[in-house]
Amino acid sequence: MLLLRFLNADLSNFETANKTFFYAYGFEILRDLDKNYKFELKQNYSSNEEYLKQATKIFEDLKENLLDLQQELINAVTYIYNLDNNKDLEKYTYSERFAVYLIKRMGKLYTYYKNDFIMRDSYSRKYQEIGSHSEYDLLETLQNKNQVLSMSDTHKSNDLSSICYAILEELSKTPNYPIKKCQNCGMYFVPTSKVDEIYCDYPKENSKTCRELGAFQSYTERLKQNKAMGEYRRTYQQKFMQVRKDKENKKLAKNFEAWKKQAKDKINDMKKGKLTENEVYEWIIKNK
Ligand SMILES: [Zn+2]
Repeated sequence: MLLLRFLNADLSNFETANKTFFYAYGFEILRDLDKNYKFELKQNYSSNEEYLKQATKIFEDLKENLLDLQQELINAVTYIYNLDNNKDLEKYTYSERFAVYLIKRMGKLYTYYKNDFIMRDSYSRKYQEIGSHSEYDLLETLQNKNQVLSMSDTHKSNDLSSICYAILEELSKTPNYPIKKCQNCGMYFVPTSKVDEIYCDYPKENSKTCRELGAFQSYTERLKQNKAMGEYRRTYQQKFMQVRKDKENKKLAKNFEAWKKQAKDKINDMKKGKLTENEVYEWIIKNK
């Protein structure tokens, strides 16, 4: 989430930056971002105003750095996850592209590992966790399950760039979690259901997510292209106009009401798959 939030953060001013990113992580995360900057943030402030004043100053002072960092990460993610759909890159994995991006020093990503204190996960450290199991129990378990004990290092850092680097490195090793760019709103996301999802799932202000909106749009798109629906709409308009022009004609109005009901039933049956598009089309033509 941290990497995604940062890629999507609106850094244009303090309010938007706070609302889209810093509210979740605080400003401490910038402490080691720039070694030439004298970072000052106290543990406690006597008033909210005082804290906000100092946080705003830090943000303004480091804003250029932050915008640079965001752009660098966007460039790296675009390459590693091939978001430009470059045909020549398609066959390589995320971690292969990640490695080449660093080795070839594309962008500045290769400099971002510096302020990261890594606590190695190791077999020595497993003593606390499973040291009480007997020697042969452990050997048997490892052999039966044909597995190596999973290790995960712990990173400690006050430098946003190093944190993003560590996340990207870890993430690029997992083929099931690609970073994608939403085709509706352009935000970066990791699909939760299917790997080839093209719309994000972020809650939007109108309460519909891009995924729901996308599903709805392609549904109405499909209906637009459906020739039975097209014929239905044209016929409906014609009949509607006839009734309006000839208001005294009670029979015409009654027929129209009956036709509407029947047509609706036919269309519902088509949506349920009980009737084909062609059958409904034929029915509409016959009952014009
Ligand atoms: Zn979206």
